Amino acid sequence: MKTLIEGGWVVAYDGTSHEVWEEGSVLFEDDRIVHAGGAYTGAVDARLSARGKLVAPGFINTHVHPAGNGGDYLLLDMAKNDYRTANYMSFAAPLKGKATPPPSAAMAAVRRYVFLHALRNGTTTAIDVGGLRGDWDDYVRAVDETGVRVYGSPPFRDRNTFTDSAGRLYYEVDTAAGTQGLKDAIAFIKSYDGAAGGRLRGLLNAAQAETCSEPLLRACKDAARELGVPVHTHAGGNLIEFQRIMEEYRKTPIQFLADIGFLDERALLGHAVFTTAHPWPHYPFGDDLKVLAERGATVGYCPYKYAKMAMTLHSFQRYLDAGVNVAIGTDTYPMDMVSELRWASILAKITDANYQVGLPRDVFNAATLASCKFLGRNDLGRLAPGAKADILLIDVDRLGAGFYADPIKALVDAGSGRDVDTVIVDGKVLIQGGRAVRVDEDEVYAKAREATRNFWNHVPSWRWDGADVDRIVPPAFPMRPVSQIVQDR
Ligand SMILES: [Zn+2]
Repeated sequence: MKTLIEGGWVVAYDGTSHEVWEEGSVLFEDDRIVHAGGAYTGAVDARLSARGKLVAPGFINTHVHPAGNGGDYLLLDMAKNDYRTANYMSFAAPLKGKATPPPSAAMAAVRRYVFLHALRNGTTTAIDVGGLRGDWDDYVRAVDETGVRVYGSPPFRDRNTFTDSAGRLYYEVDTAAGTQGLKDAIAFIKSYDGAAGGRLRGLLNAAQAETCSEPLLRACKDAARELGVPVHTHAGGNLIEFQRIMEEYRKTPIQFLADIGFLDERALLGHAVFTTAHPWPHYPFGDDLKVLAERGATVGYCPYKYAKMAMTLHSFQRYLDAGVNVAIGTDTYPMDMVSELRWASILAKITDANYQVGLPRDVFNAATLASCKFLGRNDLGRLAPGAKADILLIDVDRLGAGFYADPIKALVDAGSGRDVDTVIVDGKVLIQGGRAVRVDEDEVYAKAREATRNFWNHVPSWRWDGADVDRIVPPAFPMRPVSQIVQDR
């Protein structure tokens, strides 16, 4: 089955760089691209008009947690009022024994919502960096049903994080759990690598640099080499982690991971914000950016999430200039890869006080080609003959950008995930006219909403101070829920 996309601005890959063809065309047959660039005159079976649209390679989102749920709200609310449980500690450090995993139906609902939400907002390949828990078969079914391309496996660690009754964060060693977790992850990859029509692939997830012991990180890297899969860990993500690694190893998280052989071209680091280049740690020794560049590791930068926490890379441009491979992810909601392009671009300008950095070219490359390095793929992140037919049609005529001469600049300047009209993965149309084709969107949303409400309702039962969600993240204005209005009458 040959399908021709014609009439739009086509971002084709010429072997070294993206280039933009006005009134270009893309031909794909089954799951592969046959032609990308100028006009195509051969016979085709189906046509798809891209008039007024940008035809772009699907974005590779380096940071998706498919258990992403109510926790995101506690994590990122812009007025949250608890400094010490910043970042993921806000929901990942409960009173010991008080937090119970969500029911499997809730996990099933949320992971379908995450995949659908990511797809609709321009992600065609999701790097699952932790959150695959519970029912493995259902996870594979969710990948299969939604049609997204995923790299992942269950995350593991051998140091759990808890809060005591006085609100003090502590780490508790559980070596057996770490060993078993790695074993499970290897078993998952052996069973499911290549499942869902080849769209589900393996990647080993050592949860966080400071929640995994050095032996566990080394064992993870050894297993990844043996399996031929990439590795991911969160590192340089917050100051607590930075200081703990400093205390334990007298090195920065980046230097530590480099010294134990964890960093190479098959390694992805979530965030890597707190490095020797960042002003907050005030750490004057070494050069983490040089280390990252020399090892060839990829940084999975999540611009908007970090901006909401008043943090950013120092800086996107300085990392690029140092030769670091920077890719882009969303982490939390909104998983909007189009908006992330603008956040990456603008934050680079602000951080460096220089409007000539954070160029549209560089942020677009970061969302497409950069991830191919740690994935070891040359058939993703590009529209070229032989590449996978992972394609976005983005409506650039309706951007709030006025008239444009360059659709990539217009996209970075004014686009959002809501402008994504059509999403094709492996040659299959999954989103058309901004709506899901294969799954019942309303049902997915309703179930995920219910699962999230239940999560919020349980928060006081595992919080050290018993605080409810409204106390942790105060509403903008006093809220008048329906139940209260009825009582007042
Ligand atoms: Zn994360």
